[in-house]
Amino acid sequence: MATISDNLQQVRARIARACECAGRSPESVTLLAVSKTFGPQAVQEAVAAGQQAFGENYVQEGVDKVRHLREAGVAGLQWHCIGPLQSNKTRPVAEHFDWVHTVDRLKVAQRLSEQRPEALGPLQVCVQVNIDGGANKSGVAPDAALALALAVSALPRLQLRGLMAIPEPAADAGAARAVFDRVRALFDALGVKLRPQGVRWDTLSMGMSDDLEAAIASGSTMVRVGSAIFGARHYPGQAGG
Ligand SMILES: *Cc1c(COP(=O)(O)O)cnc(C)c1O
Repeated sequence: MATISDNLQQVRARIARACECAGRSPESVTLLAVSKTFGPQAVQEAVAAGQQAFGENYVQEGVDKVRHLREAGVAGLQWHCIGPLQSNKTRPVAEHFDWVHTVDRLKVAQRLSEQRPEALGPLQVCVQVNIDGGANKSGVAPDAALALALAVSALPRLQLRGLMAIPEPAADAGAARAVFDRVRALFDALGVKLRPQGVRWDTLSMGMSDDLEAAIASGSTMVRVGSAIFGARHYPGQAGG
């Protein structure tokens, strides 16, 4: 069976190849290892293989893992919250994470800013955009993204970094690419307005295990990869879990 270390090497090779095809430097893409549903042991295996940035979807699970690894003496990790965030769940995120990718309402951003401990430095945030209008999905509508980004950028304990998107699964690579290109176009258009305001607009968080090549071709700077690193996820109640 392939180990987490083997899988990480393969994913890094995929990223390098996709960057080469796109004429981009491999350092222009950060790999976020999405460790949701996997225990601290799996995270430690990835750390031993050189991975430092991890993504979590569920607040309590993520906080437990952050604490566990800190107590185990594993230092220098970076934790990203990539799951939907309710405004009554912001405090543990503000207190334990380094990044939040899923800011889609000003109220959530305001609470994160108020609750961010001074000692930790600003929380890095991306605005999540609902690029394809998926009905039940989180994310701000594209035409409301600039107003939200401007308001978020004014909050004192947050540092706005860019956009995040989770498009619906596409039929093929071409269709995936077309949607990612729309996210990229929005990212560029917002950057024109935000960079002159002093915003460090440098992060485009898109691409997962199945579509990271298309995302990198469209300009992703951060791919969020779970199953290709840690294997298939099993949720409680799911057969075979
Ligand atoms: C689970 C998840 C991922 C990783 O998905 P894989 O297909 O396992 O790579 C990436 N981003 C978000 C927001 C997720 O919830």
